[in-house]
Amino acid sequence: MELLPLLGSALLLIGLVLYLARPLLLANAASTVAAQSGDVRPLYERKEQLLGAIVELELDREIGKIPAEDFQRNFAQLEAEALAVIAELDQLNGAGSDELERRIEAEVAALRQQGADPPGELAPDRQESDPAAEKALQHNFCANCGAPRRDGDRFCPQCGVALAETG
Ligand SMILES: [Zn+2]
Repeated sequence: MELLPLLGSALLLIGLVLYLARPLLLANAASTVAAQSGDVRPLYERKEQLLGAIVELELDREIGKIPAEDFQRNFAQLEAEALAVIAELDQLNGAGSDELERRIEAEVAALRQQGADPPGELAPDRQESDPAAEKALQHNFCANCGAPRRDGDRFCPQCGVALAETG
């Protein structure tokens, strides 16, 4: 029955670690304060840099220049950094932190439009998809292989996959 004392010291250790980690957290806050009193331009520059890197990374992945696992790792890293910078900027601007994720996505999307849009692929004036037409298409073609189907077909004539009921 030496479990309890052991547990006690384990908890103590955890407490100690948390206590020791506090200065790090406080230092982080201090850098924000420093940014608050100083020039925010380096932050903006850093943000642009990071977002640019993210876009470049996505392009590299699209053309198959980097393996998927490298992309995942690099992307997570860049995004975390960008989020940290944006969080700091937001604090300076008094914005809420809950919209950070949405904002970085918007920024990346905007950059992507500015920069590396191959014409035709994601053209801004592409036709708005008509929900009704889309629904009709879904009903008239196999969702699996794209073969045309007739009303009442329970299974795709081409690939044999079960089809949703029409109507
Ligand atoms: Zn099919």
